[in-house]
Amino acid sequence: MAGHPTIVRTIAALDRALGKFRGPGESVALVPTMGALHDGHLALVRRARQRADRVVVSIFVNPAQFAPHEDFASYPRTFDTDIATLAAHRVDLVWTPAAETMYGAGFATAVQVKGPAATDLEDRFRPHFFGGVATVVAKLFAQCRPNFALFGEKDYQQLKTVTRMAADLDLKVKVIGVPTVREKDGLALSSRNVYLSPAERTAAPTLYRVLKESAARIAAGEPIAKVMSEGWIAIEEAGFALDYFEARHAETLGRVETLGDGPIRLLAAARLGKTRLIDNVAV
Ligand code: AMP
Repeated sequence: MAGHPTIVRTIAALDRALGKFRGPGESVALVPTMGALHDGHLALVRRARQRADRVVVSIFVNPAQFAPHEDFASYPRTFDTDIATLAAHRVDLVWTPAAETMYGAGFATAVQVKGPAATDLEDRFRPHFFGGVATVVAKLFAQCRPNFALFGEKDYQQLKTVTRMAADLDLKVKVIGVPTVREKDGLALSSRNVYLSPAERTAAPTLYRVLKESAARIAAGEPIAKVMSEGWIAIEEAGFALDYFEARHAETLGRVETLGDGPIRLLAAARLGKTRLIDNVAV
């Protein structure tokens, strides 16, 4: 029988819980999430279990990373199921603060990461996003003081941004990236996939298929510009409206022109009806 995780909603309760289970030499891994948990999140939890003595999962739908026109209000919230799932995965602690606890009266600080957060990818279309992410993740790290933090490669620019911030601010947390978990047909798991209509769901795996095919062609030596412009057309023909589909340096996210400029990562964001999907693959 899996035990129930301790659920805490206030900083005082979090401190008490962390103090109780963090014995001398015991390590803590944090998995930050916005809930609506799926197997992608659980891959992070499993890696956390392997790396650390104690696993903390935060569930916080962070208002600061949504623009006013985005889906904060309708974002899926499945708290009771999430807790049952986390119990089955032997998570020790769930940190789920209210928005007023996270952003108290007079809150006036923002963490701004340059470098990977400012490479004209997600930041071009969601200019508010990485400021919101960096600020809340810095707070989560300060609150939970983890030795390890697990983030998905699915949100590749976010992974690089958080890694940069943790290093730059000497937060003494090792950020670990976890490969993307996919449906059998290749679609990356996402809490937002529930928004897809049946027809959109059928079209959705094209994004990953074209990313994979394009990566294979680039690896085989075809010109990057040609592969990317043909891939762009193939994705749009499947009914997507692309925000970006780009080949970038896998570490800096800077622009690349030839295979020799690599290692290369292909990154895409595209709208299918009202749903915005992002994905990326290594070349
Ligand atoms: P979210 O709840 O969407 O903010 O995601 C929380 C964490 O889970 C982030 O580090 C994501 O990158 C990660 N994640 C989301 N989807 C996947 C996936 N399909 N595979 C691996 N990690 C994922």
